[in-house]
Amino acid sequence: MMDKEHIEIIGNNHMASSVETPLRLDAFDKSDNEKIKNIEHHFEIIMKELGLDLTDDSLSGTPYRVAKMYVKELFYGLDPKNKPKLSTFENKYGYNKMLVEQNITIDSACEHHFLPITGHAHIAYLPKDKVVGLSKINRLVDYYAHRPQVQERLSLQILRDLQNVLETKDVMVMISAKHLCVSSRGIKDKDSFTTTVEYGGCFENKVYRDEFLNVINNQTL
Ligand SMILES: [Zn+2]
Repeated sequence: MMDKEHIEIIGNNHMASSVETPLRLDAFDKSDNEKIKNIEHHFEIIMKELGLDLTDDSLSGTPYRVAKMYVKELFYGLDPKNKPKLSTFENKYGYNKMLVEQNITIDSACEHHFLPITGHAHIAYLPKDKVVGLSKINRLVDYYAHRPQVQERLSLQILRDLQNVLETKDVMVMISAKHLCVSSRGIKDKDSFTTTVEYGGCFENKVYRDEFLNVINNQTL
């Protein structure tokens, strides 16, 4: 068990211990409904401990609403059964220049405080033999975002999956996001946001990174 000071240090520095989301071996032994029931029970205790009167009509349903929201919405991306199927197609037209999917909404939550992380992801790749449906990239981002996260890990998880599916290292992932745990607590900085950049293959070469950033910075639409 960590001491309280160490717990705060990890939270304020937003440290992640590995690329994989740390999961228990029994993470998915229980059904979603069982989890909702248990979380509802525990959240009721949290609310009562804060002094709230759960006989009030406005509050009485909150433990259930929070539990359902955690399991079915905010953290649906923890469960591999919810992972979108990334079907690929042969690159028949031989398009081998850069493809950029930008302004993909990020709706996530920080694993250190369970507060929202919101922003955008921009993703580029150079197709080799395989291409993937555009919306699948958005779905993959959505899936990994919907679990307690650290922004660096989120970037890496998306990068790694796309590299595997597309069978090329030539992928770049950039995420810019605001963390409510930075804006509403702690330092309380309302304006700063965080940008993470992960890439492999041809993007090790500055020329490709510059082309990508050029597309991002000259949004035409
Ligand atoms: Zn946080």
